[in-house]
Amino acid sequence: MKLQDAVETAKSQGSLQQQLWEITQTPWKSGILPSADDLTKARASLPSSLGAEGQGFESTKQHILNDIVPAFNGSSISPHYYGFVTGGVTPAALLADNIVSAYDQNVQVHLPGHSIATDVESNALGLLLDLLQLKRAEWHNGTFTTGGSASNALGLACGREYVLRVAAETKGASIQSIGEHGFFEVMQAAGLSGVQVLSTLPHSSLVKAAGILGIGRANVINICQNNDPLKFDMERLETELAKSGKANLVAVSCGEVNTGRFATANLDEMRELRRLCDKYGAWLHVDGAFGLFARALDDSAEFNSIKKGGEGIELADSIAGDGHKILNVPYDCGFSLCRHPTEAHNVFQNANAAYLTGNGNGAASIPSPLNIGIENSRRFRALPVYASLLAYGKIGYQNMLKKQIRLARFIAGWLYDHPDYNILPEGGTKEDLINQTFMVVLFSAKKDGLNRCLSAKINETSKMFVSGSSWQGRPACRIAISNWRVDEDTDFDLVTSVLDTVAKGDNAANQQ
Ligand SMILES: *Cc1c(COP(=O)(O)O)cnc(C)c1O
Repeated sequence: MKLQDAVETAKSQGSLQQQLWEITQTPWKSGILPSADDLTKARASLPSSLGAEGQGFESTKQHILNDIVPAFNGSSISPHYYGFVTGGVTPAALLADNIVSAYDQNVQVHLPGHSIATDVESNALGLLLDLLQLKRAEWHNGTFTTGGSASNALGLACGREYVLRVAAETKGASIQSIGEHGFFEVMQAAGLSGVQVLSTLPHSSLVKAAGILGIGRANVINICQNNDPLKFDMERLETELAKSGKANLVAVSCGEVNTGRFATANLDEMRELRRLCDKYGAWLHVDGAFGLFARALDDSAEFNSIKKGGEGIELADSIAGDGHKILNVPYDCGFSLCRHPTEAHNVFQNANAAYLTGNGNGAASIPSPLNIGIENSRRFRALPVYASLLAYGKIGYQNMLKKQIRLARFIAGWLYDHPDYNILPEGGTKEDLINQTFMVVLFSAKKDGLNRCLSAKINETSKMFVSGSSWQGRPACRIAISNWRVDEDTDFDLVTSVLDTVAKGDNAANQQ
């Protein structure tokens, strides 16, 4: 079924789905951000303390719909919200997510006689691998998480466990598992003084993961080339890997959040990273929160350079991905994949809790989620993924992504020619720029006066929303396109009219 048909079906079903659909359509007709009045009204409506008597279901419902909801933003519902990388929610994912809430399955232990939930979760992971063109035989190990941040933490945790075990083994030490004995004891046994994460323009959440895991934020090291902050300087990388006393994780930004570009340009570059990691016993992690989905594209020449950015990811040891961005399922959802089937268990297993081990019937091909991820009790967040993949298939997702990329490229090309704006990173021909544009457009105003308040001026229109960012010390704006509702033609008209109006307004003000 085509997406637009699905929307029509959702609208016409006289059902829960229709009610929710309508709720999600109403408040955003006027603007992407709530009005100041709506925000004030909503804040004033919040109770100062919990009453002894509840106010009841109906009154609570009215309060939420009339006071709270109007003060939400349209970030996921409007295709013109280009902040962060936000994604939307497909109709099938919305349906499934409401079923998840209604039935409230706890996906914790694989109990095949009690619920189908863990089977569905495992199946959804398999469908996702098919979409991403990763071999099930190698990659069907992983788990659903709360998002890219958690997935980065899981990937680095598995990597930390692995590299230190290898180092301890080499020393002939019997203490080898951080999960079991702790970081400090394994480091001592391995005779190491630290763990480093070597990357280029890593996402802030990867640095945060290093903080959580005791590696330390300061030990995430940028190994970029002098003239390109996203490309690995292979010589420096090898020097760091060869340092004695350090264990290393290499993290590839497969889709860098500010520019949307890729740290590796093709399979050969990933092969070289793999070779170096093997030579020095390092772990290769890919942060593919949104960039991973480049692999879902078809082989047409139009998207060739993007598809190449996702090449060779199958050579990694762990991969972090996001569900609530390009996959267009609701918050919160991400996934963590690991090529080593037992590594997550080494880190996350519950100790000796016999009642948590399932029914021991030998059907343990599906691991219990509680032993391979952070949570014990946990939401059935795989169902929206399952539903959306089944409903739209590979081609449905390719079509969503194509529209997003085409819109980003239209805007990038238009900005390239615009007298008042710079497209970033600068340099290169227009054709190169367009070929390298995925679904993020980074730009600035040429005049400093306008540039300082550019994102505010654009967002004041409430017709679209951009993130404020920076590039090489100057403020910049970022348009990130990841909503299934995007229409490349009408949205291009809207974006260019807003950007033209903002530039013209500034030129007029300067002439007065
Ligand atoms: C968004 C993002 C993350 C963090 O994901 P959350 O879902 O926000 O936790 C990590 N890495 C990259 C490249 C991202 O774009």
